[in-house]
Amino acid sequence: MTDWKTQTWFGHDIDAGQHRNTELEISESYSGRNIAIPLRVVRGVEPGPTVFVTGALHGDELNGTGAIRSFLADPEWGPVRGNVLMIPVLNVLGFERHSRYLPDRRDLNRCFPGNASGSMATRMAKVIFDEIVAKCDFGIDLHTAAVRRTNYPNVRCDFKNDECLRLATAFGAGVILDGRGPKGSFRREATAAGCPTIVVEGGEVWKVEPSVVDCMTRGIVNVLQELEMIDGEPEVPENQVKLKQTKWVRAERGGFMDMHVSPGTTVVKGQPLATNSSLVQEDQNRLEAPFDGIVIGMTTLPAVQPGEPVIHLGKLSSPKTVRRVEKQTQADEVQRTAQEHLSTNVQVVEPMD
Ligand SMILES: [Zn+2]
Repeated sequence: MTDWKTQTWFGHDIDAGQHRNTELEISESYSGRNIAIPLRVVRGVEPGPTVFVTGALHGDELNGTGAIRSFLADPEWGPVRGNVLMIPVLNVLGFERHSRYLPDRRDLNRCFPGNASGSMATRMAKVIFDEIVAKCDFGIDLHTAAVRRTNYPNVRCDFKNDECLRLATAFGAGVILDGRGPKGSFRREATAAGCPTIVVEGGEVWKVEPSVVDCMTRGIVNVLQELEMIDGEPEVPENQVKLKQTKWVRAERGGFMDMHVSPGTTVVKGQPLATNSSLVQEDQNRLEAPFDGIVIGMTTLPAVQPGEPVIHLGKLSSPKTVRRVEKQTQADEVQRTAQEHLSTNVQVVEPMD
């Protein structure tokens, strides 16, 4: 779009500096009504990049929705330069059912870039791709952990893509994970199509958690500052940790888990993570850290069977790095608060000798 003064977005002519709520029609319901994604087009006065910010691509993951809505509460909020598409709920059909999935049980986040003559999910993906991704220069996609799990706030992106890494670093969650994302995922296909996109993970489903929202809102502002769309310098924690390898530590026995760590805890190799016992505290089996690391996710359901995921650990290079990350987390108020708040969901007990 070369003309900055007036652009057509979703069928409306929108002037530079104007903010407009509108919607994108993506499907039709069983009763033949239009199904549309509500969104706000926020246009800066001056030219600049166009960025999408999406929540609830998994329809039950609402922290991003909360973060986006906190910007939308201020009708004046917007960039000086460039456009922002604020989309609180991308997967409206999943959202209507409090579900990660679409009504046809497909995961929309595996259906990109979509197919105009394919399944319901791939058709929706195609509309989203054509109408949003193709018209944007960058993307931020906000997620939470899946049901029965929680995530310590982190950003995920392809380290090999300089622009993705630039956005991820500017976001400033403190923890950045390497990876392109699964085939068909929004961020992977958007990035491949020339719209560098990062994923942000934090907290759990069906909630708007204040400390996760704080991390997300800071990060969105940081990215827009990095892109010079709004004035000011990004407020980024020093020495953010970049993780190239992660591992789910899984239960070896069935039973009830006593946790020794919580989201954001740093551990050294061999450190107890959780102890599993029968309901009357017999048959103990201890899970230990397979390497130096940081807890980036964990189960919220303490009853487990063998093989079920318990602790998602990001690998750190040495005990020295563990101490550095620990210090860095404590020095950054947003990270420290997230760690404190998310930890209130978990009863952490000392391991017994
Ligand atoms: Zn998700």
